[in-house]
Amino acid sequence: MIKTVKFGGSSLASAEQFKKAADIVKSDPDRRFVVVSAPGKRSADDIKVTDMLYDCYKKAARGLDFNEDFKKIEARFEEIITGLNLELSLKSEFENIKDAFAHRAGSDFAASRGEYLNGLIFAAFLGFEFIDPATCIFFNENGVFDMKATDEALKPLLKNAQNAVIPGFYGAMPNFTIKTFSRGGSDVTGSIAARASESDVYENWTDVSGFLAADPRIVKNPEPIAEITYKELRELSYMGATVLHEDAIFPVRTAGIPINIKNTNKPSDCGTMIVPETTNPPKMIITGIAGKKGFSVINIEKDMMNSEIGFGRNVLRSLEKSGLSFEHMPSGIDTMSVIVNSEAFKPKQSQILEEICHRCNPDYIYVEDNLALIAVVGRGMKSVRGTAGRIFSALAHARVNIKMIDQGSSELSIIIGVNNEDFENSVRAIYEMFTL
Ligand code: ASP
Repeated sequence: MIKTVKFGGSSLASAEQFKKAADIVKSDPDRRFVVVSAPGKRSADDIKVTDMLYDCYKKAARGLDFNEDFKKIEARFEEIITGLNLELSLKSEFENIKDAFAHRAGSDFAASRGEYLNGLIFAAFLGFEFIDPATCIFFNENGVFDMKATDEALKPLLKNAQNAVIPGFYGAMPNFTIKTFSRGGSDVTGSIAARASESDVYENWTDVSGFLAADPRIVKNPEPIAEITYKELRELSYMGATVLHEDAIFPVRTAGIPINIKNTNKPSDCGTMIVPETTNPPKMIITGIAGKKGFSVINIEKDMMNSEIGFGRNVLRSLEKSGLSFEHMPSGIDTMSVIVNSEAFKPKQSQILEEICHRCNPDYIYVEDNLALIAVVGRGMKSVRGTAGRIFSALAHARVNIKMIDQGSSELSIIIGVNNEDFENSVRAIYEMFTL
């Protein structure tokens, strides 16, 4: 059995946390490949090393003195090395990084150094080999992750290593400059390493015992989710369940490797098992509820729209031209609504509306803002009567007006649009309907 384990920033924020993570690795010889984040927050008001690096580099890029800021970053790593009683000096590494900052090596390079240095420390502490992702995780010219080139480079490295530590979050562009994934991207590296090492499981160690059926800031003590399929999780994480980076699913999914979310501070908790498929019935009909505020709806009306061939394509081409993706597109016979993320849409609104008018000549077009979307997700709803009915009656009792409904034929999720102000109430009402 081979396991790839990834430790998040809070699991490696201090020497004490490092020791817990090392105990976890050492307690199971199958845990051969270890992916690390940069040191995260030691307490609620602490600053993540990645954020310190971004800020420090901003100064360097403007030609300002960044020595004081850099010293604070050095201190974070020194504190860990001292706390672990390690014979390791990062002095020359610090000098090289400072030099690269002064020569404007780029903010991706800067941010990646948190993972790089933490990887060096953890490799030394565990006595594992260190593999620098700059040599084996690749992006293409457009900055898109290149799975084929990565597999080719990383697979032989992992095959030849008994154990290794791999920093998360970054890789290299074809011209060898450093590029990072988006924030939280060490989860993606973990998934890539699990795939390349042909691991049997990808353990993702964090500071919570897995996914909960709803956001605990909205619902009191929501049920933990013991098992969830990739597809269900994709729906939930896209809509705001944030334990795992949403792109972390793809590399392991195609390889059929399950992900186990575990808690470094409570290692005996089972956590959440994310699996390709399962025949186990879910505990409740719904697996989880997630949602987000901040969507806008472009409403388009035109008589005889239903018979106008190419109408939908022309609407979507107008969005495509402005580089905007859409979330949902519920439609009636002579009406079509396109739901988009407000933040991305607003700066391009007038351009897009003009384009739609030009291409489609609608009778009426208007925009509504302040829409929140809620995804009620569960493999258990397939072919079960009454799920939608229960959701709607829960919302009716909570006096919430439903603005939009969307259910795909996979019957895996029901998406509901409500006003931003009704968001929290709606989530609570739906959750209670399925749990009480
Ligand atoms: N350190 C990076 C961040 O804070 C990546 C990660 O931790 O996954 O976003």
